[in-house]
Amino acid sequence: VLSMQGVHHAFGKHDVVQGVDLDVAPGEVVCLLGPSGCGKTTLLRIAAGLEVLQQGRVALNGGDIAVPHGRHVPPEKRNVGLAFQDSALFPHLTVLENVTFGLKGEPPRERRRRAVALLEQLGMAGYVDVYPHMLSGGQQQRVALARALAPAPQLMLLDEPFSSLDARLRDRIRDDTLHVLKKVGAATLLVTHDPEEAMFMADRIALMRDGRIVQTGTPRELYCTPCDPFVVSFFGEVN
Ligand code: ATP
Repeated sequence: VLSMQGVHHAFGKHDVVQGVDLDVAPGEVVCLLGPSGCGKTTLLRIAAGLEVLQQGRVALNGGDIAVPHGRHVPPEKRNVGLAFQDSALFPHLTVLENVTFGLKGEPPRERRRRAVALLEQLGMAGYVDVYPHMLSGGQQQRVALARALAPAPQLMLLDEPFSSLDARLRDRIRDDTLHVLKKVGAATLLVTHDPEEAMFMADRIALMRDGRIVQTGTPRELYCTPCDPFVVSFFGEVN
């Protein structure tokens, strides 16, 4: 579905992304893993259309969606679901209204059914008529995930989507999210700095350092056949 080739990005003189090639297939979860500041979020924002492409190619289903400094399919036309660290829910809408907001072309009853089903799967069934300010950060994140998934996008772009969940809840929500992603069949690019999360969530991991992908492979490949000491050091902390 998503194909990025030779993507470069600089902020002023600072080269943040330096020649990244990355593909994500339908139904596949690829984790973009790496230390803080290595360029993960910037790459995700380029895929989302939130940053102008400076160099390289970004294609969705074989068609270019951005040309360097030129034509650019805007985020809302990319059929992508976005959930970022800051859940950014609409404060004046209830949980249910937040989740049904982006659903068009369906009867209201069907929208509601779909939204409630997703909220149930993410453990938020009891909060349908509540406003976001009454929820904890972790609960808001779950609503943001449901909102991103509701239109069954081809491509899901998630930036640290579990960061404000407490450890006790995190495993369950990761599990539930993975289940929903697989059911929807979305191609998913998930940014995380947590190797344990990547090991759990990913079909493939792309490990980044200083704007470059150091190694791409299944969690097992990175763990068992690391290509250099950086990969080893990164997975050293995972049990
Ligand atoms: P983190 O895990 O801390 O979010 P990251 O790997 O996602 O890190 P990015 O957010 O992509 O990294 O940032 C990469 C580099 O680009 C950082 O050095 C950051 O300071 C810089 N940067 C990011 N956004 C901008 C911006 N809008 N203007 C200038 N510099 C930026």
